[in-house]
Amino acid sequence: MTDITQTILTEFPVRKTTKQKEAFRLWLCHQLKQMGYKPALESRGSSTNVVCGDVQRARYLVSAHYDTCASLGLPDPVTPCDPLLYLLYQGTVALGLLAVSFLAALAVSFPLGMPGLFLPLLLLFYLGSFWLLLAGPANRQNANNNTSGVATLLAVIDRLPREARKRVCFVFFDDREKGMLGSAAFRRQHGPELRQDLVHICLDCVGDGDYLVLVPSKQCRWDGELLDALRENVTAGEGKTVDIRLGGYFLYPSDCRRSKRHILVSAFHRKPFVGYYTLRTRTRWDTVLDRENVRLLSQGLARFLAASV
Ligand SMILES: [Zn+2]
Repeated sequence: MTDITQTILTEFPVRKTTKQKEAFRLWLCHQLKQMGYKPALESRGSSTNVVCGDVQRARYLVSAHYDTCASLGLPDPVTPCDPLLYLLYQGTVALGLLAVSFLAALAVSFPLGMPGLFLPLLLLFYLGSFWLLLAGPANRQNANNNTSGVATLLAVIDRLPREARKRVCFVFFDDREKGMLGSAAFRRQHGPELRQDLVHICLDCVGDGDYLVLVPSKQCRWDGELLDALRENVTAGEGKTVDIRLGGYFLYPSDCRRSKRHILVSAFHRKPFVGYYTLRTRTRWDTVLDRENVRLLSQGLARFLAASV
């Protein structure tokens, strides 16, 4: 049997340029057809989503973004339960970029003897550095962000029994890393026709860490039936913990944030005081993709979907 996860890691490790994304989508659509689906490409602006299933009838939308990010080589620790630490780090990065821009603007305007040039240059360099963070050089390793989500989504798709497939829609979103443009385009196109009670399950960075964390949105936390089905079907394995998080602060913006009823699924490490964290995403050390996470989550979610639709 071909190992789909390994194929993505070796054949499509970076999915950032138009060409890289096209090649990946071609392969992806081939896989989906082999699994018995009819994938459709939906393009809006620069984003192309791959959509499988009946959007109007779907009770569940399960997604993962397939694009990969830019990187300036800076670490990007994520601490969803600790906003202070997160803001402190982001603030330090912003100040660091300001300092570099300041020196660069000075280095250009001073030798030219044109002090009037300093402020416009400072602004240009500073804004330019943020643009580079979003659209700059490609990060070369993207095992967790988000090859892990794509591999898990494909495994859910493959495992889902035929009779359940009519009520689930699967979307591989583009341009999460450019400000969630792909999921915004999907919302604009399909928003009015989606069911009011649709639940969006979003897989983002599920491959690195032994804590598999499911975070239902406020509107889902009151749905006892849904939570029971989640608890019953998405279960832990050896050395792995499943945490269905129903309270406390958790900041992790992803493609599901515009869906009222959603469940974010992500994997983390955990330490006292900091709580959940990941350190490797958006760096060249993003090389960890734990197959056990893919297996547990895809098995659990496929069981959950089959029992719930
Ligand atoms: Zn991601």
